[in-house]
Amino acid sequence: MALRVGVVGGGQLARMMIAPAVEVGVELRVLAEDEGMSAALAATAVGDYRDAETVLAFARDVDVVTFDHEHVPQEVLAALVAAGVAVHPGPSALGVAQDKIVMRTRLAELGMPQPDWAAVTGPSDLQTFLDAHGGRAVVKTPRGGYDGKGVRIVSAATEADDWFAALAEDARGGALLVEELVDFSRELAQQVARRPSGEVRVYPVVETIQRDGVCAEVIAPAPHASERLHEVAAQIGVAIAEGLGVTGMLAVELFETTDERLLVNELAMRPHNSGHWTQDGAVTSQFEQHLRAVLDLPLGDASSSAPWAVMVNILGGPAVGSLDARFAAAMSEHPTAKVHTYGKAPRPGRKVGHVNVSGADLDDVAYQARAAASFFDG
Ligand code: ADP
Repeated sequence: MALRVGVVGGGQLARMMIAPAVEVGVELRVLAEDEGMSAALAATAVGDYRDAETVLAFARDVDVVTFDHEHVPQEVLAALVAAGVAVHPGPSALGVAQDKIVMRTRLAELGMPQPDWAAVTGPSDLQTFLDAHGGRAVVKTPRGGYDGKGVRIVSAATEADDWFAALAEDARGGALLVEELVDFSRELAQQVARRPSGEVRVYPVVETIQRDGVCAEVIAPAPHASERLHEVAAQIGVAIAEGLGVTGMLAVELFETTDERLLVNELAMRPHNSGHWTQDGAVTSQFEQHLRAVLDLPLGDASSSAPWAVMVNILGGPAVGSLDARFAAAMSEHPTAKVHTYGKAPRPGRKVGHVNVSGADLDDVAYQARAAASFFDG
């Protein structure tokens, strides 16, 4: 009988596990938040991932539970583990990705390079940090942020008053995270796959380009990256995967500083936007690798299958009308481009698909990817 993987969350990451699941003969089931979500092509149950009974019922028919997002509460994860369900990544690893203050604390314990940071409970703590860091800093809400929501550059302690007020109303209380404003030359991402029995595979480090806090483009491997940069990024990725006991795919978002250091920005314990290029540019895509890893099957080769790959995200814009005609035009003009669609309504700023191109010449690869994606602008 086929092995069965249950994915909590019905977004595009779950959707993109479907094709590799079919290919390797794994049965995929999805617990989606609503009807008609991106991953509804798979066998889908609809239910609330915050409700332990719902998730336990879903887990009963699968061999392993994994995730398309990091928001499943610890109480629900604990209930799964108590019921004997295989959960990957496990609750303690996932807890680190759920809260940026926990993440900074654990990374410090592991000796990982990261920006100066502090947990601040009020404006006077924040002012102290600002005074010690040249008067500017980055404030983050520890939980629930994504795509730059929950990240703010401040130069006065009062600029976080609304977030402190929200903390005061939150029964869980807590603190905000403040970080030094890193003078980075670019942002990178390092992906690593790890299976429960310990095997690890390392993907090439990539450059990620953000616009308005959202990933716009990824270049694999990161251009002008020295052997040393690849080595250091890989060491950081493996040390975090092993140190936290991550199972499945791990993405480590990194800053490369102007003085050539790498600092860890963020972690994601699931397939990640920085790895979509692997679908068409690596021997084993991150989606297939995640399935193999969470099932504790041997991992696939994580090296590139072409010298260069470029991924460009497609965001919904204000233009009305069907995306279908645009997809057809992009495919017709750019036959080397692989256009991936998420089956989502194109609301402004929402990720609705991406384009991958790979090949030998970076300029041509980047041109083809950007030109194909530009059919969706506006
Ligand atoms: P999210 O969880 O919303 O993705 P991140 O913590 O990754 O938030 O921050 C979003 C973006 O904000 C980063 O990609 C980076 O461009 C910028 N940023 C975050 N932290 C810092 C920092 N300490 N210094 C400089 N820029 C930062």
